[in-house]
Order: sequence, then C-alpha cells, then structure tokens
Amino acid sequence: MTLVYEGKAKRVFKTEDDNIYRIEYKDEVTAGNGAKKDKMAGKGRLNNLITSYFFERLIQEGVPSHFIERTSETEQLVKKVTIIPLEVVVRNVAAGSIVKRLGFDNGQVFDKPLVEFYYKKDELNDPFISDDHVKLLGLADDKDIHELKRQALIVNETLIKIMNEMDLTLVDFKIEFGKDSDGNILLADEISPDTCRIWDKATNENFDKDVYRNNTGSLIDTYTKFYNKLEAL
Ligand code: UDP
Repeated sequence: MTLVYEGKAKRVFKTEDDNIYRIEYKDEVTAGNGAKKDKMAGKGRLNNLITSYFFERLIQEGVPSHFIERTSETEQLVKKVTIIPLEVVVRNVAAGSIVKRLGFDNGQVFDKPLVEFYYKKDELNDPFISDDHVKLLGLADDKDIHELKRQALIVNETLIKIMNEMDLTLVDFKIEFGKDSDGNILLADEISPDTCRIWDKATNENFDKDVYRNNTGSLIDTYTKFYNKLEAL
C-alpha cells in the first residue's frame, strides 16, 4: 500500500478507495519537536485504541470527524482530508507553555475555555499565531476560523464529560482539522494522552505525555492505566 505521509507517531497509507486512508499508529514517542525521541513497544496500540474510543464518542455527540472505524489494534480507516496546518489548542487550566510564556500559575483554572492557534511548521517550532496571522498566512478565513473555534469548544465539552466520568480533569489538548473534497471542515488527527493534559481530580497525578516530557514515570504504564479507566466506562 502506498505511503502518503509519515509523521512522528503515525503513518498514513492510501487504500483502494480514493476517499479513504489507513492510519497506522507507531511505537514511537517524541517531545520538544523531536528533540527527545524513543521507541516504546505497545504505544501505537494504546493511542489507536484511545483515539478510536474518543472519536466514536464524539461522533455519538454529533461532532463530525475523519474517523470511519478501527480495523486492528494499531490501525484505523479515516476519510481523506487535507490537513489545515494549524494546531488548535483548548485550555481549561493553565499548564505547559502558557505558564512559561504568560506567567499564569500552573493549575490556575480559567473562567472559560481558551482557544489558541499554533502554526504547524517544524522549521519554525510551531509558533503561536493570532487570528490575523492565520488569515495573512492564508490558512483559514473568518468563516473557517469561527468554525474551527466552534468545533474545538464542542470537542472540549465532550471530552470534559468523558473525563468527569473517570474523575479526571481535562487541563488542555491539541486537535487538528482537515477539509474534505467538498470543503467541509472535519476533526482529524488523533486525541490521546500524547495530545492532551489530563490530571487526576483527587491526586493531580498525570495521565499524559508529561510523564515522558518530564521523566516522572513510565509512559506505557500511564497510558495503560488511562485506557483501562476508559474501557471500564
Ligand atoms: N500539544 C500537542 N502537540 C504539540 C504541542 C502541544 O499535542 O506539538 C498539546 C500538549 O500535549 C498539551 C496542549 O497541546 O496538551 C498544550 O500544549 P502547550 O502549548 O502547553 O505546549 P507544551 O507544554 O506541550 O510545549
């Protein structure tokens, strides 16, 4: 099968159907734009299972996405989209880069969710950009920007609901969107502990990639624990 794209954590392949791609999740983990990199057996399986679970729940809640179905422990079929090169970040609680950049206290709860755009460009280290930058770069127009923010906030509501069922706090997350051949904006990429910050409500224990970023625990043990909680719902 023809490889369309290989990223840090996934490979995308063509299928017999021009409108459908197969995504394979890799056993690789990176942080700091690839500065830190490791192979971890079982990581691709966990992120595929977790992402598939989230996308299925989002579809049930009426959030359209590229997701079609999970076809194996490490693979899923998705609708072909052209990815909009924006990382859409939603924050409910201050952590990570916003603490370093703007001086919020780690753990400060925001009155309402904050949506931010980062320009997906490895050479530039994925910088934060304003809505005007998004338009100037030709990445999205006003209508698309409004739609990206609207969908991002609905994803946030749905993920918060799922996390609440597990007694977890959704601190922040990153999502990506694509456009299908009709120009519809569809949620794409993945939603997993690689792309979210998730804290235990009682203990503040991390259930996300920060254990790898900060060397505070085993990534596989953490993601397994998270998946077990998700499966028990
Ligand atoms: N994030 C991501 N990919 C990136 C950058 C950020 O998935 O390339 C996620 C990250 O896991 C966190 C959220 O987006 O859940 C906000 O990340 P932040 O801006 O705080 O950056 P970081 O602390 O990861 O450098």
